[in-house]
Amino acid sequence: MKIFFDLDGTLLDSKPRLYHLFQFLVPESKFTFENYWKLKQDKVSHRELLTKYFEYSEEEVAKFTSEWMSLIETPEWLSYDKLFDGIKPFLDLLKQNHELYVVTARQHEAIALRQIKDVGLAGIFKDVLVTLQKTEKEDLIRNRFELTNSDWIIGDTGKDIETGKRLGISTCAVLSGFLSKEQLLTYSPDIIIANVTLLNF
Ligand SMILES: [Mg+2]
Repeated sequence: MKIFFDLDGTLLDSKPRLYHLFQFLVPESKFTFENYWKLKQDKVSHRELLTKYFEYSEEEVAKFTSEWMSLIETPEWLSYDKLFDGIKPFLDLLKQNHELYVVTARQHEAIALRQIKDVGLAGIFKDVLVTLQKTEKEDLIRNRFELTNSDWIIGDTGKDIETGKRLGISTCAVLSGFLSKEQLLTYSPDIIIANVTLLNF
């Protein structure tokens, strides 16, 4: 079977990167890591957060968003990312019987590829599909593969689950990332697990 893994929040713990970048761009914020992620996991957007807690104007929100997008994938901030525990040996075994892919909504392909190599995952995936924020994960996968419902997508967001459902493949939500279990349940994934290493394929 083919297994499509999301990257951030699924294979990589990207939460420290996002939290620290938020604190950098909003120095007046007193949010702890836990405060920030509680709000984000309940799907509070940055726009809501900035207008509600920091009284940002539309202009300030736009400036934040633009700075966020330009910094979020720079090596300085990516250095906060860590592979979740046990991912590498788990994927090493899984790849013996299945075709593994990464599908990510990152903006920069070369940087994503380098990071995958730097965290020790070189040679695990048959390919890495990057939307470059110009297309959808769904289109990248659909245009390239013949799929059946024995193929899987594994991700930490509702969008990943919706993508899998539209492609007619099986869907697995992981709780290691950006959304709470309550939020993920609303997308009705086929299975929900705490993290990727609990996949039982
Ligand atoms: Mg993700």
